[in-house]
Amino acid sequence: MTDITTSGADRFDDVFWKAQTEPITESDEFLRQIAAQADLPALLAALAAATRDTTFLTEDLRPPLPPVDTVNHPHGGMTAAQQEKGRAVAVDALKRLRDEKITSVDTLSEADARAILVFLSNGDQTYLPSLIHELDLAPDKGGRPDGSMGDLPGASDFEVLVVGAGVGGIAAGYRLSQTGLPFTMIEATDGVGGTWLKNSYPGVRLDTPTFGYSYSFAQRSDWPHQFATGGEICDYLCQVADRAGLTQKIEFSTRLIKAVWDEQACVWRVTTRDASGAERERSFSAIISGLGQLDIANIPEIEGMADFKGETVHSAQWREGITWKGKKVAVIGTGASAYQIAPAIVDDVSELLVFQRHAPWMLPTPAYHEPVSDTFAWLVRKVPHYGQWYRLWVTLTGIPGRFHTVTMEDDWKGAPLSVSSTNQKVREELIGRMRVQYEGRPELLELAIPSYPPGAKRMLRDNDVWAAALCAPQTTVVTSPVAQFTEDGIVTQDGVEHKVDLVIFATGFRPSDYMDGVEVVGRGGVELHDFWNGDARAYNGLSIPGFPNLFLLYGPNVGGVVAGSLLFMIERATEFSIKAMREVLARGAHGIDVRPEAFDQFVAWVDSANRRMAWGQPYVHTWYQNATGRVSQIWPYTNVEYWDVTETVKPDDHEFL
Ligand code: NAP
Repeated sequence: MTDITTSGADRFDDVFWKAQTEPITESDEFLRQIAAQADLPALLAALAAATRDTTFLTEDLRPPLPPVDTVNHPHGGMTAAQQEKGRAVAVDALKRLRDEKITSVDTLSEADARAILVFLSNGDQTYLPSLIHELDLAPDKGGRPDGSMGDLPGASDFEVLVVGAGVGGIAAGYRLSQTGLPFTMIEATDGVGGTWLKNSYPGVRLDTPTFGYSYSFAQRSDWPHQFATGGEICDYLCQVADRAGLTQKIEFSTRLIKAVWDEQACVWRVTTRDASGAERERSFSAIISGLGQLDIANIPEIEGMADFKGETVHSAQWREGITWKGKKVAVIGTGASAYQIAPAIVDDVSELLVFQRHAPWMLPTPAYHEPVSDTFAWLVRKVPHYGQWYRLWVTLTGIPGRFHTVTMEDDWKGAPLSVSSTNQKVREELIGRMRVQYEGRPELLELAIPSYPPGAKRMLRDNDVWAAALCAPQTTVVTSPVAQFTEDGIVTQDGVEHKVDLVIFATGFRPSDYMDGVEVVGRGGVELHDFWNGDARAYNGLSIPGFPNLFLLYGPNVGGVVAGSLLFMIERATEFSIKAMREVLARGAHGIDVRPEAFDQFVAWVDSANRRMAWGQPYVHTWYQNATGRVSQIWPYTNVEYWDVTETVKPDDHEFL
């Protein structure tokens, strides 16, 4: 991590704000090389802001932003002529930074902020409000709560419980600390980081671009990798918690086990349990749950497991000291964790058995394991705010994402292999890539081609290492289902015994079991899980009728899979929760409860869109659905729609208590 000056952090509402960059001292020729290798839209935006000159962002230079099927278009699809002109403009502006010794940038005027965002979005105004939320330099950057909230009558007694110190809990803690409301944070483990603390398995790394995976209020710019390692993300979250002053506030090793809404007092009576098993009861006016969707490990119950003499571990429960060197290792599953684990261990094991039920689809990502380029690192060091502009650019191009590739076409005849002509085209393109990867291994190629449409399940990142791991001489792909364990290994349904020393369950999570392990009793004594009856639903993914002042940050139906940033969703859920609390206090009320009709309407709206997606087809089965078959995990719209629904607390949708 480079030296970070946080002066000015508060003004820019960013705990990573760096007031000054290093001066540019390099030659014209060097600057030409930088412009030749840089991502042009992000660079031009940064240069316009730093020089305070938006006149060179002419309409003919706007990136056309063609939709992304399988690979991103460099420079947002700018033509060769646009690139040539853009580079010449960029070199001139870089020279200005050097010659005028510009090493810092200040808040933009509203007109300049708008001009740059319109340039980046190719004139599309629909993105602007949500982009301003991400732009430190915007005079009206959103996200920060009303700082006078703490002065409202009743505010000093309105204590909020934040559950969890992962991505959600940290966002809530940061924003609450700006409100003046009292709050308590608890975390069941002994550290900060949530899923990134627990998932320390070999090879763990982001499967979305690093720059799309940071908070709008903590825009770290000196990331070492384009797709950060798990450790880097965990380190980032720890730093955010430290810089936001949260770490010392968190009660670690403290688990929420019960919350009962007291209808008379309008407070939650909460029971927590510490590591020693001691229970404590206390009261809070509101609860913000930062419990993750991908938190409860799915470990299949397999006959004979207790007899197995070797070692077993789930990917999300990795323990220090687990060794695989020279061992016979079984990896069960071929999802987002397995595809990182198998390539990371394959060279060290004596045998690798990959147990596959369904093959994964993978998006070509040649640079998946690469560090950021020298050019990128130079730009972050020398061009004021460059890293943040690049983050905004990644965020912007991620808004439409790949929705158009996974949306079904009416009367399409390609089911169950594809859902539309575009989806079929993606299918063929990815299979073409596999033909190269598995050349000379027809038996593996056959196993590698998924039997469901691209996008129906999480698309993984492909830099060829998965195929290489499966093709390694020490690897066997086992497709017969696991039947039972023996003392020495695993027997599959075809009767074959596979002797192994270590079994890695990369078998995913139980994401639809929201708030599992916590008893939540709302109005009228109704328990949350009884209310849900196996089908977790929530208004805006965060509130449930009958459970006032309870807000879930990564609740039902807010997970994005082909577009947008999860952190954006979590931040917006946090902001909505705080706005809801503000509304309660401003009205002199004690509670807010979503009306059942608004809740039903929201769920129906989400369901109708999910049914048109590859993952919503009746012949597809994934963890995106719950036991009832409803897609209960996934947000089927863009971030912009979530921006819209979380912008205001609609009085008609709520009852105030
Ligand atoms: P997953 O994607 O749900 O994959 C679980 C795998 O285990 C699947 O291949 C599944 O097969 C298989 N499986 C489940 N139960 C089984 C059983 N009883 N017998 C045999 N195979 C079984 O889980 P995951 O890999 O842990 O990933 C879950 C999610 O976490 C991802 O989609 C992603 O959102 C997130 N994640 C992110 C990252 C990252 O950003 N770096 C990394 C890991 C995970 P079927 O396909 O047949 O169901």
